[in-house]
Amino acid sequence: MKRNILLIEDNEQNRYLATFLLESKGYHVDSAPDGTVGIKMAMEGCYDLILLDIQLPSMDGYAVAATLRENPVTKNIPIVAVTSYAMTGDREKAMKAGCEGYIEKPINPDTFVREIGRFLSDVQQEKCHEKDTDR
Ligand code: MN
Repeated sequence: MKRNILLIEDNEQNRYLATFLLESKGYHVDSAPDGTVGIKMAMEGCYDLILLDIQLPSMDGYAVAATLRENPVTKNIPIVAVTSYAMTGDREKAMKAGCEGYIEKPINPDTFVREIGRFLSDVQQEKCHEKDTDR
């Protein structure tokens, strides 16, 4: 079964590259251009992992991660932060907001998918199982 990844990223080129790389390795990717749309999709969809840009319009990635962690429907989905800020403390801030991992931009096409894979649990999200039995 294909693993579903939700990409929350406001930059179209970054969305295109990340989606292309992940889909070429057999993942299914949906994307959202901002946190509000992303949170809505995460709650309604069935995702194994969320890739979260930190620099987003209006609601930043830290706020998005914190919101996803507070919601019982999305609290167990692993979140990997993606950010171009190479500032000290950024990783810590992402972890504190509830992210499992942290990847720095620019995306390295040679290592990106492998890095993401480390954060994917072998266990499908419970919600997905429920959907499977409904079919
Ligand atoms: Mn951005």
